[in-house]
Amino acid sequence: MAIQWFPGHMTRAKRQIQEKLKLIDIVIELLDARVPISSRNPMIDEILSGKPRLIILNKSDLADPRMNEQWKQYFEHEGHTCAIVDSNTGTGINQISVLTKEILKEKIDRQIAKGMRPRPARSLIVGIPNVGKSTLINRLAGRNVAITGDKPGVTKGQQWIKTGGDLELLDTPGILWPKFEDQMVGYRLAITGAIREQILNMDDIGYYAVKILVERYWDTLAERFGLTEPPTDLENNLEIVRIMEEIGRKRGCLISGGEVDLEKTAGIILRELRAGKLGRITLEAPYDDMPVREVKQ
Ligand code: GDP
Repeated sequence: MAIQWFPGHMTRAKRQIQEKLKLIDIVIELLDARVPISSRNPMIDEILSGKPRLIILNKSDLADPRMNEQWKQYFEHEGHTCAIVDSNTGTGINQISVLTKEILKEKIDRQIAKGMRPRPARSLIVGIPNVGKSTLINRLAGRNVAITGDKPGVTKGQQWIKTGGDLELLDTPGILWPKFEDQMVGYRLAITGAIREQILNMDDIGYYAVKILVERYWDTLAERFGLTEPPTDLENNLEIVRIMEEIGRKRGCLISGGEVDLEKTAGIILRELRAGKLGRITLEAPYDDMPVREVKQ
């Protein structure tokens, strides 16, 4: 991740988004479908202060389809409208202008009642780095748009991008930060590749990946790496390490003395996971084991 988030950057990012809110009708909040809560900004409700919002579960092609539906229901239960999207291929993006119109229906109806001709809805895409903001903008625009992030001290004219439907986008997406204070959020994002591995310890990222896979996708993991012995106690860290070591041995990740090279093993597991070799995987589920959301100030 190119951006180092310090308090000053967060404040500036928040202010930049809040300035743009004045120009737009609706916010499109992008989340990574594999980690919908970990990829969510902890202050999002406060930052958007009641602006109409559409939540998009992006990278849904990499996430577990069953879980995509569960997460959609979860956000709907919270009172949001939510769409499942794959911005890489464009699957699901047609819903965006339809749902936007539904969300803004009352406003549009009021304009019509006053004899005004409704103009296309103006929107701003927001999300943490790597969640797919540029990819989605390019998809919606139907062409490659030169997306320049906001740079400190540079004020540049905002460009509206037409999408062909009744929707226009601001060309500079709002970049948000994830909830760094929660250690597991960092690990989950690192597992998806959204944050650089160098920031965290590779063995640990691998350990948490295996732990989540063992808990949620044991059969897939066992099949991929030829594992035969399921863990007996999920709470026991040594069991997870045992499984990691077994994977390492199967893949020949040994150092002298026959010990397993856990760092190399972690690298293999993460590479295969991200490449989709383990199938479509979601790393967190709604309701259980959910990181507690920050209390609004
Ligand atoms: P941004 O930092 O939010 O603008 O993220 P980008 O648009 O640069 O996307 C980051 C990476 O995620 C790129 O490699 C994209 O190709 C990939 N990506 C974006 N959306 C999707 C998606 O829906 N599915 C998959 N598989 N990859 C995606």
